[in-house]
Amino acid sequence: MTLTDLKNADTMGDVAAIIRQCRDCPLGESRTNAVPGAGSDQASVLFIGEAPGLKEDQQGVPFVGSAGNLLNTMLDRAGISRENVFITNTIKCRPPNNRDPEQVEIDTCKKYLRSQIAKLNPKLVVTLGRFALEYFFPGERISRVHGAPRQLGDRTYLPLYHPAAALHNPGLRDTLLEDFLTIAKLINPLSVAGGTDSSKSNSVKPRPKQLDLF
Ligand code: SF4
Repeated sequence: MTLTDLKNADTMGDVAAIIRQCRDCPLGESRTNAVPGAGSDQASVLFIGEAPGLKEDQQGVPFVGSAGNLLNTMLDRAGISRENVFITNTIKCRPPNNRDPEQVEIDTCKKYLRSQIAKLNPKLVVTLGRFALEYFFPGERISRVHGAPRQLGDRTYLPLYHPAAALHNPGLRDTLLEDFLTIAKLINPLSVAGGTDSSKSNSVKPRPKQLDLF
């Protein structure tokens, strides 16, 4: 697959097909399945994690292991349907033994995330963990910026802890849930009690159909 193939991709499905064939970095040789992402091609909200883990590698689907179960719980608590958002990772193939992605792997793979964002054009990007945060905001620390939305152009970014971090440190669960509830407020400002506070200045203006989605 070449960059020309990617440039000619018209849809999220086209990009996913290219990712599944990709061998552009060494992870292409060690993976079982590439994991392009899953969800609605019309989603206004994009979640970006770190990298596939063991179960994701086996199934070719993102967030299906224990961290995925916690993600599902958090989405449910926030009243967000997983089918109506799109979920992917910073890199699309599992690093051996779930080690951290290497910079060359991130750099080689970033063309796919860039293409997915261009195709989806989400109003809200939720980064899960430090690698996705680093992709957009190099040098930021997740412990300092989590839960605080920021606006770049007409897109809102919300950095969150990765659900796996809350599995390893149960003390982060309440923090993660609180930050997930912020997503619901950003998606539908009308759901915020009071309705006129200045903290909503970064709120995402929902597309009309989003009101049906959530
Ligand atoms: S991690 Fe990305 S660049 Fe590397 S083989 Fe997988 S899809 Fe290709």
